[in-house]
Order: sequence, then C-alpha cells, then structure tokens
Amino acid sequence: MSIEKKKVRMNKQRRATTKAVRIDPNIVLTVQNLTKTYTVGNSTITALNKVNLTIRKGEFIAIVGPSGSGKTTLINCLGALDFPDSGKIIYNVDGKGMGLDLAVMTNKQKKKIRLRKIGLIFQFYNLFPILTAYENVELPMIIDKKSPKDREEKVKFLLKRIGLGERMHHLPSQLSGGEQQRVTISRALVNDPLIILADEPTGELDTETTTNIIKIFLDLKNAGESILMVTHNKRIAKTADRVITLTDGVFTHEIKGGKPIEDIYKH
Ligand code: ADP
Ligand code: MG
Repeated sequence: MSIEKKKVRMNKQRRATTKAVRIDPNIVLTVQNLTKTYTVGNSTITALNKVNLTIRKGEFIAIVGPSGSGKTTLINCLGALDFPDSGKIIYNVDGKGMGLDLAVMTNKQKKKIRLRKIGLIFQFYNLFPILTAYENVELPMIIDKKSPKDREEKVKFLLKRIGLGERMHHLPSQLSGGEQQRVTISRALVNDPLIILADEPTGELDTETTTNIIKIFLDLKNAGESILMVTHNKRIAKTADRVITLTDGVFTHEIKGGKPIEDIYKH
C-alpha cells in the first residue's frame, strides 16, 4: 500500500476513534432514538420510530411484533446491513466500554464489526448450498484469516457441541431445517461475537425443533452470550429475559420473561 493511502486510512481510523464514547463495560450495545424510513413512490413508511434499547452482557432479549412492525429493519440496522436515517447504534467494540457508533465507523471498521462482533441468524438459514456444514461454519474464520489449525479446532468443537458431529460433511440440502439452523448458529458463534442477532430463527420450524433451538439459545445465554431475537411467536419469546413489543416501529410494551421452556406450550 502506498504511503498516501496509509495516511488516509490512519486519519480515517483516528477520526472514528476520537469519536469513541465511554459506556458501561457491561453494555454490549445501546440504541438511541433509532429512526428508519423507506420511501416508495410518493409515500414514506416509518419502519422504526425513535427506538431506544440497551442490551447487557449475558442478556437474552426478545422483540415481538406482527408482520410489518419493523423487526427485520431493526436487525438489519443493528447488523450494519442497512443504514438508519437518524439515531445512534453504539457497540462496545473492545468489550471494555469503548463505545463506537456505527454511523462514525469507516467501512473497514464496519466490516470488522460484522465479521467479529455480530453473529447473524436468519429465518431462511442463508447457508451456501455448495458448501458443507463444516465449510459454511469455517467461512467467517477464513475471511478473518484464522489459521487452519484454529479453524479446524473451532469448527469441529462448535458442530459437535450443537449435535452435528456426525453431519459435518453434509450439504445443506442433506440436512433438515432444524439441522440447517443449528449450522447457522454455529456459524454465528465462530468468531466469538459480542452479540447474536436472530431474525425469526424458528420461523420455518416445527414446534419440537423450535423448542430445541430455543434451548440452545438459553444454554448460550447461560454461558454469557448476549442474544437479541425478533419473532412473531409470542410463546417462545417469553423464554427470554425481557420481551419487548414493537408496534408500527415503536416499542410499546415490555414485560419480564424467563418462562421455563417446558411451559411455553402450556396454557
Ligand atoms: P417485520 O420484519 O416486522 O415484518 P420489516 O422490518 O420487514 O417488518 O418492515 C417494516 C416496514 O417497512 C413494513 O411496512 C415494510 O413494508 C417496510 N419495508 C421494509 N423493507 C423495505 C424496503 N426495502 N423498501 C420499502 N419498504 C420496506
Ligand atoms: Mg421480518
């Protein structure tokens, strides 16, 4: 790289770092007045309207709301896959309280955050069909330039732990929906993220498989992971620590969750 280029990069990084704010080290992510609108033709849709949210280490939060209430928009903005119109999304980037707003990050910093700090899980799994379970989980580590030895150790550990030890070398098409979702959970965890963002992770799954996926989330939470799950399934949401209702882009209601998984289908 030329000296000029290096200078530009260093200046950009310095500019972003000087914009860092101190936050409580136990906070993983804090969202302030987040607003996002979409314009289609002549009409403007407010998908998120001044949303505020703080997620602490080891917290499992569920956001519920009907279709169109803004859940996916929220995940996409937090995951740096979409840009909000206004408001802040501050990540505890070093895990020690150095808060950095996504809006002031350079593209390189955003890429790093996406790769190392955020574990994304989607409703439709989003696995590469031509890669095996093992290769799908390994991919973020390859992009992050981890050594072959580290990759092998981590990928095998995660897949075995999640019960896919015997299915590592299967293609997604050779796995059930629940197994595919377990692959995406392993992939989300592979670079030890600060937080897992899950968009309707059980949307396509039957009741029994849904219960198993939620059990995995609860195990992860008990091991100290932070999880934000959006879902329209109010029953499973109640297993989270906090259940927040999103209505037309506004947080309207919050209740305490913590319902045992065994009780969620009881009336
Ligand atoms: P949910 O995930 O809760 O179903 P979304 O976040 O997908 O809701 O959508 C929230 C609102 O924003 C909806 O009215 C939806 O139609 C609108 N919306 C979402 N994405 C776009 C887009 N790319 N362009 C225009 N409108 C969008
Ligand atoms: Mg959605």
